[in-house]
Amino acid sequence: MPLNIPVITRSPTSRRYTVHTDRQRWSAEQLAAVGHGRTVMEWAVRRGVREAALSCLNANFTPADIIVDEHPDGSVAMTGRVLCDGSDCHTAAQRRHYDAVEAFEAKTATEWAAKELNLAPGKVRVVQERVLPGRDRHRLRVPLGFVLAGAFCATAGGLMGRYDYAKPEGTSPGSDIEVWVGQNANSLFTQLANPSIVAGLLLVLYGIVRLLITKTTK
Ligand SMILES: [Zn+2]
Repeated sequence: MPLNIPVITRSPTSRRYTVHTDRQRWSAEQLAAVGHGRTVMEWAVRRGVREAALSCLNANFTPADIIVDEHPDGSVAMTGRVLCDGSDCHTAAQRRHYDAVEAFEAKTATEWAAKELNLAPGKVRVVQERVLPGRDRHRLRVPLGFVLAGAFCATAGGLMGRYDYAKPEGTSPGSDIEVWVGQNANSLFTQLANPSIVAGLLLVLYGIVRLLITKTTK
């Protein structure tokens, strides 16, 4: 699982780094299936670290620090890590939001980075992309609402246009309430279908324009 973890050091100085990492776990069978299983596995982990950040010189040319965990079932977990001070890597890595396994990986990466930098474990933490504050979220939510309402309206129009009520044999609207409702709905839907589609599309357009305005004036 190649991963890039953006970290920041706390006082006395605040500095930004990225941990380029890969962690793999091979079963005893997997290791036995290839000659020199551990060497092949280590090679795969080092490649994983490079693949985490293909354009990064540090990830590609600094030998990764390899940590091996042996498990009672014979499987082996190997983690490779490189500490990178490139600002591009740090900015790119911040955009990612972790799942549970990755979050655990990120935490152990901070402990490793602290050790590399000769800092106490609590002095390094993961930085994530700034979450949009409430006002910005609201500004985006309104135009998105227009787009959604418009899409709903246009879809409803399309469905109404396709609605076609056929009166069952031997019934008449005068005596059968269901037939009366069906036939009236049919003519109402026929009249509403096209205006609904047009109104829906206009709403979608309006929403998109507002969305663009919101983005450019941010
Ligand atoms: Zn890097």
